[in-house]
Amino acid sequence: MPEVLPLQSNGEQKPTPTPITKKQKGVILGPDGKPCRSCNSFRDFFGATKGVTAAPAERFVPQNSPPECPPDVEQLGRSSWTLLHTIAATYPAEATPTQQEEMKTFMRIFAKIYPCWSCAEDFRAWMSKPENDVSKYVQGQKTFGKWLCDAHNDVNVKLGKKPFDCSKWEERWITGGEGC
Ligand SMILES: Cc1cc2nc3c(=O)[nH]c(=O)nc-3n(C[C@H](O)[C@H](O)[C@H](O)COP(=O)(O)OP(=O)(O)OC[C@H]3O[C@@H](n4cnc5c(N)ncnc54)[C@H](O)[C@@H]3O)c2cc1C
Repeated sequence: MPEVLPLQSNGEQKPTPTPITKKQKGVILGPDGKPCRSCNSFRDFFGATKGVTAAPAERFVPQNSPPECPPDVEQLGRSSWTLLHTIAATYPAEATPTQQEEMKTFMRIFAKIYPCWSCAEDFRAWMSKPENDVSKYVQGQKTFGKWLCDAHNDVNVKLGKKPFDCSKWEERWITGGEGC
């Protein structure tokens, strides 16, 4: 459903607000106008925040975040996909109407509050396509697991990665392969 915009005093609808956050030199900014840690790789975030005062040749930009730092976009993503796929792995084969409602609500809220705002925006856009409407896929684990695999693949492809073979979803997230 399209968003209902507030009316102005002249009775006209306010124009759609422009996004509060933008990119600057390839670095995604947060609502405060500063580089967004959970939206960028550690390298980009560090380069934009800590390495700016030194001359380029002297700049030290580490590849990976030291342990115990707040998560960058990759750490946050890895942990979040682990949580989401594991939730799907423990979702009932045939979910009750209540469980289906809870899952729909959870995914919609997740897509709103995901800390990487630019990731969340794209995820909501993907979910809003009729063919990706989560309510069609919450009947049980098989449909929900496949939906999640497709959602994850949409991000994989966007990032230039190879899509995951969704026929291997159960082996990856439920049974485990050899050695697990
Ligand atoms: C909702 C969401 C949106 C995101 N959007 C962005 C974005 O816009 N930009 C950005 O830079 N990062 C985004 N990320 C993070 C990104 O998806 C990765 O998590 C991050 O780049 C780290 O990737 P990775 O290669 O370690 O493996 P991940 O993609 O995190 O995957 C973890 C593991 O899941 C398995 N896996 C991979 N694909 C699938 C699949 N399709 N189905 C099931 N299992 C699979 C593999 O075993 C893999 O090792 C997003 C994360 C989430 C949760």
